[in-house]
Amino acid sequence: MAKYLVKITIPSIQDTIVRSRKLKDLTGGSELIPRIMQSGLKSLANDDKVEFIIPTKDVIKEDSLNITNVAYLTIEGEKEQVIEKVKRMKEEMFKKLNTLVDTVKYKIPDKEFKEYENLIRYQIRNAINIVWAISEIKDNDIVKAKNDVDIAVANAKASIEPDNKSIEGFNLFKKQKNQYSDFENYQDFMEKAYQLNPELIRGAYLCDVCGKRVILGATEHDFKNSITKDSEKDRLCAFCYAKRYYLEKEKMKEAESKNERERKSVADAALAIYLQRENKNGEKYEELIKGKFIENNLEYLFNKDIEYVYIEELNGHIKELEKNPDKNKEEIEKVKKLIDSLKGLYENENKENEKIGYPPVYYAIVVMDGDSMGEKISKAFEENKIIDITEKLSEFSKEVKGIVEKYSGISVYSGGDDVLALFPLETALKGYMEIISQFKDKFKDMKDAGYNFTASAGLVISHYKIPLSYVLQEARSAESKAKKVDKEKKEKDAVCIKYIKHSFSSAEALIKNDHLQLFEKLISFLSDEDFPFGFIYQLQELLLPYLPKTEDEEPVKKLIKYLIEKKPYKRKDKFAEFMLDTKELFNFKEPEKIINTLKVAKFIASGVQNDRN
Ligand SMILES: [Zn+2]
Repeated sequence: MAKYLVKITIPSIQDTIVRSRKLKDLTGGSELIPRIMQSGLKSLANDDKVEFIIPTKDVIKEDSLNITNVAYLTIEGEKEQVIEKVKRMKEEMFKKLNTLVDTVKYKIPDKEFKEYENLIRYQIRNAINIVWAISEIKDNDIVKAKNDVDIAVANAKASIEPDNKSIEGFNLFKKQKNQYSDFENYQDFMEKAYQLNPELIRGAYLCDVCGKRVILGATEHDFKNSITKDSEKDRLCAFCYAKRYYLEKEKMKEAESKNERERKSVADAALAIYLQRENKNGEKYEELIKGKFIENNLEYLFNKDIEYVYIEELNGHIKELEKNPDKNKEEIEKVKKLIDSLKGLYENENKENEKIGYPPVYYAIVVMDGDSMGEKISKAFEENKIIDITEKLSEFSKEVKGIVEKYSGISVYSGGDDVLALFPLETALKGYMEIISQFKDKFKDMKDAGYNFTASAGLVISHYKIPLSYVLQEARSAESKAKKVDKEKKEKDAVCIKYIKHSFSSAEALIKNDHLQLFEKLISFLSDEDFPFGFIYQLQELLLPYLPKTEDEEPVKKLIKYLIEKKPYKRKDKFAEFMLDTKELFNFKEPEKIINTLKVAKFIASGVQNDRN
């Protein structure tokens, strides 16, 4: 009997996931795709004519979400039968997608659901594409069959790429292509564009999250009307609205059973370690802070969003309330009192022992994926090692969750070699280092067979107020920079670490994964209590004539040595030696990179330092 290789995929998932304004959008989007893939593959799990290649059968059967958006399997049978089975699989996947309609139905009033039902169904049904191809495996040549399905799927994908110029097929508005081109940077754009042309920000009345579909509730007379705006600040399409909420019930149950607050904001990542810390009397910071909210009859704020532990957020809340001063008079007074008592707790000047410090505002996003995976997968198909690799990858993605948890992070997505996770600043680097070494370890016994599994990543540390969609974009672009670390040798295996402050000022450093221990050593120097204040900025000034690059490295070395020696710092000899000898981190012909590496290390050091106090 004939045997066919089947490839089925949901393309552009990065797009579905990355378009997020809230942590909920991100977690919702990234769980949705594996769930859809799984429900399709499951429909064939008990068919003895079917053999799964990627992912493996046990991954499909267990209720894990380690499924990638691409699947390969073989089906024995006549061509028509095979196509029939693939179509059934696709139907199951769409059935799963369509359960999002129920999420919307559950969230909005019946009357409005009925009024917009057609649009809701249309937007959800068309939110994702499913692309598949089959090819007969002749003479056992699975490699040729794989080439065939790869090409067919690539062609199919190209033909369904969304047309960015029109909106759901209609050319209603002329969309600006590069929205940022007239502006200096993103911040500049945010500040000026809204005044000049609010449609730019509103995406010409398109959904605030995806920018692709019309806002649910918009009419031809009122494009801005939104039926989600009562519960949301954002104006959303049906798909993004459902994506934000479809996990809500499940997640809340899960959090309740663990007796935890549901983690829904990036601030939850920033605060994860801080809140668990204890003061000298063994009282948890979380309980101490919550106590202040309870004392002031504002416990609901604490439960609503953890961001209210920041004084800045409470001040913002007061501003909102002051729009209606008579009605909110009492509430405003309560919040003002809460601010005073929180400041007392954070600063506690009379009792040094009981001071807990201000809550940290930075968290990190790590995006990682395997280097040149396509090549390796093809090679593995040829050499009949693909099952081995698939199994290892699914083991790895399960282990990632454990590592992320161990470092108090939030695992958003881990499927195959892909990882997306949030960490508090204090543990981000450690967490990433363990993930990368786990990945390499997993495959080290395949090195002799010519498989050198490495991965590259973007690690972006951001202030919690920076828009999540922007931070995700930055993390993705940091990841691609890491993959270009050494263009000549075509070596990857690196990480690009970047921080973004609330003012949008930033710096980044590109570091090979093998040199991260050296980078940690650098951080430990910069964490010393007597490390000279202002050192990096003075160095930057001294090196000004040589920035960004120079042919002659001698003066750069001399100036570095000179500045360190002038400073009162206990470990200065060791530090000077370290800087001048560590060529893996410092290239003296590129002093600008040296400055940036120091800035990033210093930034992480200040987070780690807080951790120790
Ligand atoms: Zn949308």
